[in-house]
Amino acid sequence: MAHYELRKVTFAYPEQASLALSDVSLSIKPGEFIVICGPSGSGKSTLLRMLKREVSPGGRMSGAILLDQVPLQEWPARELAAHVGLVMQNPDNQLVVDTVEHELAFGMENFGIPRDAMRRRMAEMAGFFGLEPLLDRKTDELSGGQKQTVNLAAVLMLQPKVLLLDEPLAQLDPLAARELLGMIKRLNEEWGITVIMSEHRIDELLPLADRVVRMGHGRVLFEGDSRAFALEA
Ligand code: ADP
Ligand code: ADP
Repeated sequence: MAHYELRKVTFAYPEQASLALSDVSLSIKPGEFIVICGPSGSGKSTLLRMLKREVSPGGRMSGAILLDQVPLQEWPARELAAHVGLVMQNPDNQLVVDTVEHELAFGMENFGIPRDAMRRRMAEMAGFFGLEPLLDRKTDELSGGQKQTVNLAAVLMLQPKVLLLDEPLAQLDPLAARELLGMIKRLNEEWGITVIMSEHRIDELLPLADRVVRMGHGRVLFEGDSRAFALEA
């Protein structure tokens, strides 16, 4: 399914003396909802990008990352791309084509998935996310919340087992953030997708998270369930 094992992962960006990640060990079980918190610069984005093998190739890494018992570097790129989805903070950086419909189709077209399978999947996604009325709309005319919803739906078209979310709520107003969060929780509960999400507005997330990881200066400073986190904070 989707089990991550990180063993003493240390990472430095090219030409940076300081470590972006330092001795990070974590085990993430299939179906878990994990929230990663910590101040800006603490390594949250780097950690998420490492889980999808998307950090600067010139960086220095030590330690190991295993996904389903297989070292991450041995995963074929296509399989990894389909298995692990990534949503970033700013949807504008991820929306690539003109309309909502084309955006949803984009990933599957790249993978050469047959058209009727794509149509079925698109109907399912549009239904789940309430996007049917928006399919013909241009993505650049949507609200921030709608854009992020399209972004999430587009990532899910490929049926990933793991969803990595890098502060996906940061640019949304409170109502849009709550709606998106509700959808993320449903994906986790109803579809069993493993969710690994970074966020600094941790309070709203505590009731949803199975586990909280707090980062500081590239290290894991705390790891535990939300009850233990609330006591510690
Ligand atoms: P966040 O806190 O959301 O990770 P940042 O403002 O730290 O965002 O980073 C924004 C972008 O700048 C990211 O793409 C990140 O990789 C890049 N970045 C951050 N710090 C540095 C740095 N010291 N040198 C080069 N690029 C950086
Ligand atoms: P966070 O997501 O918690 O804000 P990041 O993972 O973005 O933290 O950053 C961790 C550290 O790595 C910071 O010191 C940041 O400046 C540095 N960093 C991030 N991206 C880059 C990059 N592309 N090049 C160089 N340094 C970076």
